[in-house]
Amino acid sequence: MTTLDDLPIRDDLRGKTAYGAPQLDVPVQLNTNENPYPPSPGLVDDLARAVRHGAATLNRYPDRDALDLRKDLADYLGHGLTAGQLWAANGSNEIIQQILQAFGGSGRSAMGFEPSYSMHPIITGVTGTRWIDGAREEDFAIDEARAVALIEEHRPDVVFLTSPNNPTGTALPLGVIERILAAAPGMVVVDEAYAEFARAGTPSALSLLPGNPRLIVTRTMSKAFAMAGTRLGYLAADPAVIDALLLVRLPYHLSTLTQAAARVALAHREELLGTVDALRAERDATVDWLRQRGLSVADSDANFVLFGKFPDRHAVWEDILDRGVLIRETGPAGWLRVSIGTGDEMAAFRAALEGVLG
Ligand SMILES: *Cc1c(COP(=O)(O)O)cnc(C)c1O
Repeated sequence: MTTLDDLPIRDDLRGKTAYGAPQLDVPVQLNTNENPYPPSPGLVDDLARAVRHGAATLNRYPDRDALDLRKDLADYLGHGLTAGQLWAANGSNEIIQQILQAFGGSGRSAMGFEPSYSMHPIITGVTGTRWIDGAREEDFAIDEARAVALIEEHRPDVVFLTSPNNPTGTALPLGVIERILAAAPGMVVVDEAYAEFARAGTPSALSLLPGNPRLIVTRTMSKAFAMAGTRLGYLAADPAVIDALLLVRLPYHLSTLTQAAARVALAHREELLGTVDALRAERDATVDWLRQRGLSVADSDANFVLFGKFPDRHAVWEDILDRGVLIRETGPAGWLRVSIGTGDEMAAFRAALEGVLG
């Protein structure tokens, strides 16, 4: 039997295994930070109508520049943004890949502050870019002075800042982002996949875009928008940044059906984002409950909670799984992450963890 090792694969990919959270058929799935609420029948009908309309033109390529969708995204984000400052792709993972294809690559480096989103270093590596880990503090904050010193030492071509951060839930003050932007010689990417879940009054890095052409703010419809299956990520930046991404994107990368589905979702944003308040309340209740159980819990501005610490977290993860609840074994040693689900799902999680802790 032929194995991967028999193939003339790139040396830097040799010995690696494919990344991805386990997709297990378990009653309660709280492991990939999806929104637990499916679209309403009315929204499904509108999606079906849009797909039917698009289907009649599938012999033709899609709008390569996705202009109508980018207009809708600009309208959603506000901050005076226009279509020329927006770009969309198949999930924000593809957005991140395009950014690294344009601004990273061989002989270049990207820096992030871990623990953070594991796809940042993975996509960095896959694009032949060198990864530099600037660690976070004990409380998962980023120390400005340490970050600036590290950036001045390594002069990375791309800096990733995730706010609210995954897997810790920590939001970054705008001041930290501004200091890093001033110190960084290259592009600064603020990954705001969870922005909609942040506490009221938490500012978005979108407000820093004017006058900062090296800033990129990425977002996704996979989390708050409850559209993970659609695969739609996007960014806001200076129009010159989008010119750079046009050099590396594959022609017609965003299918007619994806563009249509995303536009319908944006038109129904009131319904889709209507679940955010309930999820925030459930998150805060989960944090309180875990703390009452005597566990360490990171403050969260997202739709998940990082908690611990367990001497053998794998055993705890497995024991919870045996009780029908799938959470995520991720983050620093000893910690586990639970995504916020419906009230019933969180009750099942509490019962399972209660059973494990005894
Ligand atoms: C989930 C997540 C994403 C990306 O998701 P897509 O589904 O590819 O849009 C990006 N960044 C962070 C921090 C995430 O947690």
